[in-house]
Amino acid sequence: MIDLHTHSNASDGTQPPAELVAAAAAAGIGTLALTDHDTTQGWAEAAAAVELVGVDLVRGIELSTTHRGISIHLLAYLPDPDDPALVAELRQTHASRAERLRTMVTRMEEAGVPITYADVLAQVDGPGTTVGRPHIADALVAAGVVPTRDAAFEWYLRGRSGFYVPHYATPVLEAVRLVRAAGGVPVMAHPLAAARGRVVSDDVIEAMAEAGLAGIEAYHHDHTPAQTAHALDLAGNLRLFVTGSSDYHGTGKVNVLGEHTTTPEVLAQIEAEATSGIPVLRH
Ligand code: AMP
Ligand code: FE
Ligand code: FE
Ligand code: ZN
Repeated sequence: MIDLHTHSNASDGTQPPAELVAAAAAAGIGTLALTDHDTTQGWAEAAAAVELVGVDLVRGIELSTTHRGISIHLLAYLPDPDDPALVAELRQTHASRAERLRTMVTRMEEAGVPITYADVLAQVDGPGTTVGRPHIADALVAAGVVPTRDAAFEWYLRGRSGFYVPHYATPVLEAVRLVRAAGGVPVMAHPLAAARGRVVSDDVIEAMAEAGLAGIEAYHHDHTPAQTAHALDLAGNLRLFVTGSSDYHGTGKVNVLGEHTTTPEVLAQIEAEATSGIPVLRH
């Protein structure tokens, strides 16, 4: 099985990269991509861990991007992690995420929600971690305010909750070009998952394809059958390849490893299109 979209505690997954790799091996995953939000911090630990368990590793990132206020997640496979433009962009997103976290928690404190900024930081597993709403969710769970991350999103963290503050994200066409310039392969994550919030119209995906998008994640937990069918249609029309992945976040989401998978042919295409010199680690 090939699962090309997972998270560790370098972003909002609940397991360290080595534990994620062990879980993947136990789940029968042969090729795993680590795609933490806006960071490559987990790459080194994952690379060391796959040596031990014999899983193949695709190093990636899930970039936060935007188009006219709509959030778009862009998977970048095998980019050069030292590409200066990519590094600068990730820094900017990180700085904005940190500031926004503080602002959101301040709003909650002012409204009498019983958590502090320190409570939220206590849920973050180390310096350099990409911080986000899931860490606030974990603090709300720890304080007994809500039972689960899901409930925290439903009641406190969603866009219209009154506590929500956006963060900087890269304009999507710029992000597609940035990933290609860093030698990576850009794939649009969960392109039509309206359950997550507003999604872009087909013409934006067409513009992304013109900018260098390589594929779309048609098979995803948050897609209805109709949304998957629509994604497959788009892929055919725009000559994009199709992936399927779990978007596993450990215990942070119900998604399970290998619940959607990608074909070996598409994996080979990703590897062939990458020009960064970052290989798929094989065992
Ligand atoms: P942020 O990037 O900080 O705005 O937070 C968005 C992240 O929260 C996404 O990457 C998801 O992984 C996570 N997320 C969104 N909705 C939920 C939910 N209902 N339950 C758990 N995690 C969620
Ligand atoms: Fe996430
Ligand atoms: Fe995503
Ligand atoms: Zn994801």
